[in-house]
Amino acid sequence: MKILVLNAGSSSLKYQLFNMNNGDVLAKGLCECIGGKGGSVTHKYADNKHVIETELEDHEKALSIVLDMLLSDEHGVISSIDEIGAVGHRVAHGGEKLKASSLIDDEVVKYLEGIVPINPLHGPPAIKGITACRRLMSSVPQVAVFDTSFYSQMEDFRTIYPIPYELYTKYQIRRYGFHGTSHRYVAAKAAELLNKPIEELKIVTCHLGNGSSITAVDKGIAIDTSMGFTPQEGLPMGTRSGSIDPTVIPYIMKAENLSPDEVEDLLNRKSGLLGISGVSNDCRQIAEAAENGNYRAKLAQKILVNSIKKIIGSYVAELNGIDALVFTAGIGENDAALREAVCEDMDFFGIKIDKELNKTLRGAQKDISTADAKVKTMIIPTNEEYMIALDTLKFCKE
Ligand code: ADP
Repeated sequence: MKILVLNAGSSSLKYQLFNMNNGDVLAKGLCECIGGKGGSVTHKYADNKHVIETELEDHEKALSIVLDMLLSDEHGVISSIDEIGAVGHRVAHGGEKLKASSLIDDEVVKYLEGIVPINPLHGPPAIKGITACRRLMSSVPQVAVFDTSFYSQMEDFRTIYPIPYELYTKYQIRRYGFHGTSHRYVAAKAAELLNKPIEELKIVTCHLGNGSSITAVDKGIAIDTSMGFTPQEGLPMGTRSGSIDPTVIPYIMKAENLSPDEVEDLLNRKSGLLGISGVSNDCRQIAEAAENGNYRAKLAQKILVNSIKKIIGSYVAELNGIDALVFTAGIGENDAALREAVCEDMDFFGIKIDKELNKTLRGAQKDISTADAKVKTMIIPTNEEYMIALDTLKFCKE
């Protein structure tokens, strides 16, 4: 059985075709600059890479090139569309109603359109990807896998903001959580590595990339997470502020004469590690600047480490202790110095890492805790696409 996984962004479309018999990626690629100038499709299969440069006026055009590529004599990996058992779509937000991965029909698409106001950035491209796929692959089942669904069992006292309750009932303003597919994948992998049923484990998973979030997983269920109504809450990220005193926002708007859109842009694209350091949103460049004595780069590092520690600490409190701490995504998997700084002086919680084991290369799945540590600290490379494919497979007829 083969599953195609699609992840549509506003001007991009990522794809991976899995052979679910063994989990192999048969082909994968990226369509860029959809709807703009200089479009391209980069298609990779086995050890080969083929790039097509062409205008991609919309997601449907991009997908049609992807399908041509998958089927082509020269660069293809399948001989008929019918070999694809189902398509799994990454969808950031399932709102309050779509609590689990769902077979896509008109009603699901209508619901997704209805929640665009609370998902304005990621909703429209996901709907475009789904619509294009339903048109071009009408005989193949389509499945939506939501970043939010891992959090569907979060209790109300963890999802409701302390603002007038009517704002929740009127506008669905509450905490939803994101990156759920990644947290779900690495939590399951952690249980596998520990050789214990996930139902017996308390795990904190740290997805630290350009966007970052931390999740508390109790017996396989996400009970709390750092992102909220949008992916803006929680940790400082590459360019997002994360949580700040809410009053700062109207204050900036008045002081700088900014519109709601302008202040949102400032908090989304000009803040976080980039905003503090003034150097970059990329931890590698910030580390280089910090080594050269740049005060703001050092400050950005310290703020990030302290924020991660504070959230881990609060989840250890909520869970009454943990069995495992997991690091994943670009920073979590690669930045040994950050992992070391986060885990420093956490022995009260049972978290102790071996500095040598911590020096590891990307791609390694590894236990980095000391032999006497109560908590297993692990690096687990995330694989959201494969998790989406696994969910999608459940909807396939044999
Ligand atoms: P996204 O959230 O966009 O999927 P990733 O999970 O790929 O991003 O994470 C990207 C971030 O990972 C980069 O911005 C960079 O800060 C960080 N990163 C990648 N490699 C390294 C490395 N070797 N050392 C430190 N940070 C790294």
